[in-house]
Amino acid sequence: MLVYTVPSTALGRHVWDSPGSFGSGDCVEDGAARMEILMTISKIASICTMGANASALEKEIGPEQFPVNEHYFGLVNFGNTCYCNSVLQALYFCRPFREKVLAYKSQPRKKESLLTCLADLFHSIATQKKKVGVIPPKKFITRLRKENELFDNYMQQDAHEFLNYLLNTVADILQEERKQEKQNGLPNGCIDSENNNSPPDPTWVHEIFQGTLTNETRCLTCETISSKDEDFLDLSVDVEQNTSITHCLRGFSNTETLCSEYKYYCEECRSKQEAHKRMKVKKLPMILALHLKRFKYMDQLHRYTKLSYRVVFPLELRLFNTSGDATNPDRIGPNRGHYIAIVKSHDFWLLFDDDIVEKIDAQAIEEFYGLTSDISKNSESGYILFYQSRD
Ligand SMILES: [Zn+2]
Repeated sequence: MLVYTVPSTALGRHVWDSPGSFGSGDCVEDGAARMEILMTISKIASICTMGANASALEKEIGPEQFPVNEHYFGLVNFGNTCYCNSVLQALYFCRPFREKVLAYKSQPRKKESLLTCLADLFHSIATQKKKVGVIPPKKFITRLRKENELFDNYMQQDAHEFLNYLLNTVADILQEERKQEKQNGLPNGCIDSENNNSPPDPTWVHEIFQGTLTNETRCLTCETISSKDEDFLDLSVDVEQNTSITHCLRGFSNTETLCSEYKYYCEECRSKQEAHKRMKVKKLPMILALHLKRFKYMDQLHRYTKLSYRVVFPLELRLFNTSGDATNPDRIGPNRGHYIAIVKSHDFWLLFDDDIVEKIDAQAIEEFYGLTSDISKNSESGYILFYQSRD
């Protein structure tokens, strides 16, 4: 059985030397940003957590050490819903996100949406009398299945796809509510024609997760560089065997040559020309959600296969050079398996495996890097990493 784990975050450090093939040379426009790992969602091969129970966790942490106002609750699995549970745990332990969701809960009652269900769930965890335990996220799952047919079944789903769906849905709900409030504030019959064409204001989802990529194209004939910005809520990077996140991100910024049938129309030359194209990160988000593309469509096999490649992820990522394959993430592959979340909360590392919560050592994170050889199919590998910006 495969398990996906969500490692929540680790703290680590990594320096990025960008290849500097063109432009400013640095892939990240604003220089040395530092990000520390907040958590990861990992995919694991087998569940080996046995008999851990909530009170044991409380005992292990100890009454003096247990963070004030913190609650470590497992989530009941409603039939292959670990993809959802792992993402919910990761988001709960994204402090800025949790705070905004809880603040939303305290606003006047709105009609039920995925966001109100999420707010109810977070509120329910945050206001538990006990410090540890298990909660059934039933209302949230029911709502999710009602809203999106993709998740309306008992099959394993892709955690990244779910994360992306959830963040976009929450942002849409917030923007829609803001629009309604604006319209309600206008005199009767007055149509707000002015603002109809302006892009919606960023919401707190954007403030937390949105970064910007710059897509640069350099015409090889006239050397003119044109650039186009593109926003993202998460970054998907290709993975290779025995590499690091740093390496994968560098691959993201690799220069690609546009030639033959893919030539680029240059406005200067007014004709199709060969060009170099590359992406770089223009603005890093407060929290970077990095998705490792571990599902790959194999032409020979006519199916998706999972790449258990060992990709080392640092606890702290320093600067960051990304670009490359920003096209849409691949459709989901084999969704067997299991997801868990590994979260750093205060100074503890916790593993959330549905209804089980365990304290783990920081070194145990290394078990989620992946495999050095492809022989064994049993693997535990980081799938979505969350890095939080420092300073
Ligand atoms: Zn040109």
